[in-house]
Amino acid sequence: MKEQARQARAESRIIGLVPTMGALHAGHLSLIERARRECSPVIASIFVNPKQFGPNEDFSKYPRTFERDSEKLQSAGVDSLFAPEPSELYPNGFSTYVNVDGLSDRLEGRSRPGHFRGVTTVVMKLLQIVQPNFAYFGRKDAQQSRLITQMARDLNLDTGIVVCPPVREPDGLALSSRNVYLSGEERKSATVLYRALNAAKSELVAGVRDGLQLRDVLQRTLGAERHARVDYAEIVDAELFDPIVRVNKPCYVLLAVFIGKTRLIDNLYIEPKSPGSDELVFHF
Ligand code: AMP
Repeated sequence: MKEQARQARAESRIIGLVPTMGALHAGHLSLIERARRECSPVIASIFVNPKQFGPNEDFSKYPRTFERDSEKLQSAGVDSLFAPEPSELYPNGFSTYVNVDGLSDRLEGRSRPGHFRGVTTVVMKLLQIVQPNFAYFGRKDAQQSRLITQMARDLNLDTGIVVCPPVREPDGLALSSRNVYLSGEERKSATVLYRALNAAKSELVAGVRDGLQLRDVLQRTLGAERHARVDYAEIVDAELFDPIVRVNKPCYVLLAVFIGKTRLIDNLYIEPKSPGSDELVFHF
């Protein structure tokens, strides 16, 4: 992979990298489409990164569909697929980690200790191996993309981090490799995340700006769904991911909800129409 990337750099080509864990869906393919508009070659990676899974999480049962994935990547026009083995990225004696302090410990990081350290470490390694001009991530994982942007800035990386909007099912459920875990009935319940984000939007459109009041609406909507158990439902500022008192700057509504045994996340990005304006723009 390094040799190929070196060659592309020597030819002054614009390299795009799309890191994934495989089990590819239209969300991943939207990142590839974007990368293809801006880069050539486009390199996709598939690596189910053991270091970002907790001991009681789904590493061993995470969906692995390599043959289908490589076909999808080929028809999507990806130039190379990088699919290393865990023992190649983490040989015996591996002992260096990248951690973004503070931001890694909140919300997702609090529910999944060590998760973001695993994510930033593997992303840093992929960025070192490929040294792409641009790397593409999904805003569906809002805190993750924020952390990676921060890491790139803090460590003076030469890669532009591009964050792309979430792709959803027609009923609003954000596409996720983990959606395959849902039973038929759970799949119906899973739309409650999108419904909760919409309930928050309705309040905001009606003029509500109070963080606590918005949280109540989220809790009420999520609490009414039979299979749903809330992990967190917060309104945070888009910089530091601290809970906000009033919505008057860019922020996220962030949700992590168990539907049965499957943990799903989703978010709504909100920003003032112009700096200081009370009118808001909503990005699902
Ligand atoms: P994953 O394979 O889940 O690690 O995801 C690989 C990349 O795809 C990450 O940058 C994710 O944020 C992004 N991604 C996952 N789901 C979606 C989605 N529904 N829409 C857009 N991007 C997504």
